[in-house]
Amino acid sequence: MNEFAFKGILQKEGWIESVKIKTNDDGIILAIEKDDKTTHKDYAIPGFQNAHSHAFQYAMAGLAELHPITETQNDFWSWRKTMYQIALNISPEQLEHIAAMLYKEMLRNGYTHVAEFHYLHHDKNGIKYNNQAEMSQRLMSAAQTAGIKITLIPIFYQNGGFGKKSEKEQRRFISNSIDDYLALFQSCEECIGNFPNASVGYGVHSMRAVDTENIIRLSQLKKESIPIHIHVSEQLKEIEECISYLGQRPVEWLSNHIEIDENYHLVHATHLIDEEVEYISNARANVVLCPSTEGNLGDGIFPLKQFLKHNGNWSIGTDSHVGINPLEEIRILDYGQRLITHNRNTFGNRDSGDNGLLAIESAYINGKKAMGIDQNDFFEIGKPLDALVLSCEHPLLQSTSSKNRSNTIIYSGDSSMYKGTIVNGKWVIDKGLHKNQNIDTHFLKTMKELNVR
Ligand SMILES: [Zn+2]
Repeated sequence: MNEFAFKGILQKEGWIESVKIKTNDDGIILAIEKDDKTTHKDYAIPGFQNAHSHAFQYAMAGLAELHPITETQNDFWSWRKTMYQIALNISPEQLEHIAAMLYKEMLRNGYTHVAEFHYLHHDKNGIKYNNQAEMSQRLMSAAQTAGIKITLIPIFYQNGGFGKKSEKEQRRFISNSIDDYLALFQSCEECIGNFPNASVGYGVHSMRAVDTENIIRLSQLKKESIPIHIHVSEQLKEIEECISYLGQRPVEWLSNHIEIDENYHLVHATHLIDEEVEYISNARANVVLCPSTEGNLGDGIFPLKQFLKHNGNWSIGTDSHVGINPLEEIRILDYGQRLITHNRNTFGNRDSGDNGLLAIESAYINGKKAMGIDQNDFFEIGKPLDALVLSCEHPLLQSTSSKNRSNTIIYSGDSSMYKGTIVNGKWVIDKGLHKNQNIDTHFLKTMKELNVR
């Protein structure tokens, strides 16, 4: 049995001061007790859940910002061309090294679980590997090396656009039929037995990339308890094409053809009309918002204020990994809303009115759902101890009362406040450091080989 003593832990209802958490050797919480006798140190908040990641894109973080004067178009679609060039060149081993580095950095930033939206399935010529789950397995192995939990979401990617055959550059992503996809899913599912902190979810790349009858079919075939993720309504062009091909907007089409529920995670959902906002929130489905990537790509701003009026569920993800700081994701999300509504009260529309706490709650509880896990509180008996630990000696935290502590962390926190990250009751990051330096060595070698930076 292990014991952790904290000066404070954050629960859904707020801070509990002077707490001892006891875990078994697997890191499962056995007891959460008030304990005034021990000399307590530091504050624990739940480990952040990163509900949307494309690990290989970490190789191009910061690379799409040289904008020649002569270039007329520089948007999502031109960014995608650069991304495809990298996707086409990565070997399984290189993917594993890039992902391990990324996951280590996620842990350093306070994420303890990642949902990997994975579509780079086949070899460089678009031929299936002998083990269909080769690339998926590399991602699970990278997660294990780094010490982060992973929900691997093998993605169904079939077409190059609405009614269009896939493009040559997409050859590594493609499943030709639903049976093809289900075989891929099954081989990933079989793999997870080899990785103690891995699980699987279903994924559809987007409405434009999969035949609608297959989207319907998958929604009927899927096992109920397993989450399903889909990119939706990120780009205006995609919505226009959807309307001209299907006669309906993407979320509108979903509402007319599929019974979505709390296991559905709609990634981005940037451009919604009122009826679509209501449809998603009434179905208790979730949106996964990726504010640093959405901002970087110039996607647009999700109508969060309106969504929250209907008690909508949202989580965060770092998507392209141009930023991998959860505090930054929440701030960009919040400040985007403040800038367009001229109102500072983004999350605080219920209960305590404590913006920071409400943001942590939504990102955490719905983030867990994105991994297929039901979680009622931040730290619970019978659940693993996964936490981001913040130093009580940081001048801002040392001088702040408990009622302002969550907001001090969310709005004014940075890595200088971080003490470390605990996963399954073990310090994976201790005083900012990860024990495994090989991860960096392999990553640097890989980046040299790829020669893109
Ligand atoms: Zn994405």
